[in-house]
Amino acid sequence: MTRLIFLGPPGAGKGTQAEVLANHWNIPHISTGDILRQAMKERSPLGVKAQSYVDRGELVPDQLVQELVEERLAKPDTAPGWILDGFPRNVSQASFLDELLQKRVPDGVSVINLEVPDEVLISRLLGRGRKDDTEEVIRRRLEVYREQTAPLIDFYRERQQLKSVNGNQPLEKVTAEAQKLVDSVRDDLMI
Ligand code: AMP
Repeated sequence: MTRLIFLGPPGAGKGTQAEVLANHWNIPHISTGDILRQAMKERSPLGVKAQSYVDRGELVPDQLVQELVEERLAKPDTAPGWILDGFPRNVSQASFLDELLQKRVPDGVSVINLEVPDEVLISRLLGRGRKDDTEEVIRRRLEVYREQTAPLIDFYRERQQLKSVNGNQPLEKVTAEAQKLVDSVRDDLMI
C-alpha cells in the first residue's frame, strides 16, 4: 500500500509528480486544487463557496476542504493507496488527516517535500497561465504558503515522516528520487 503526501510551495511540481507516480503505482492522485477547480466550473455548492478564496490566493476554509478529503478518501479506489497533492495545507488540516487515518491506516504515510528556489517558482507559475496565476495572486499564494503551509515541514520532520527532494531538476529525475524514497519506506514496513 502506498500513501504519499506531496508538500511544497505552489509551482514546485507537486501536481506533475503526483500524476506520474499515481499512474506508476496505479493509485488515485487526489488534488484538492483540482477538485475545487472542477467544483467551481460546475458551480456546485462547494465551488460557489470556494471561488472567492481561490481567486484571491487564500486558503479555502478548513472545514470545506476537510469534508471533501474525507469523502474522497472513503471511496473504494483508495484501498491500494493514494497520493495527496495540495492537502494538508496547514497544521489543523494535518491534524485532521492524522485523526482520519488513525481510524483506518495509522502507519506508513510518506511525506515528500519538493524544494525549489523562489525565482524558479515564480517563473514557472507565470508560465502556467492558470486563472489564479496572475502576479498579484501568485505573490499572495507564496505568502500563504510561507505562513501556513511551510510549518508542516517541521511538523512531519519531527515525526520522521519527511523526505526532501530537489524539485529543481529534470522531471524524470525528481520522479525517480521520489519513487525510490517511497518504495524504501514501503519495503521497511513489510519486514
Ligand atoms: P493548488 O491547485 O493546490 O495550487 O490550489 C489552488 C487553490 O485552491 C489554492 O490557492 C487554495 O485557494 C485552494 N486550495 C487547494 N487546496 C487547499 C487546501 N488544502 N486548503 C485550503 N485551500 C486549498
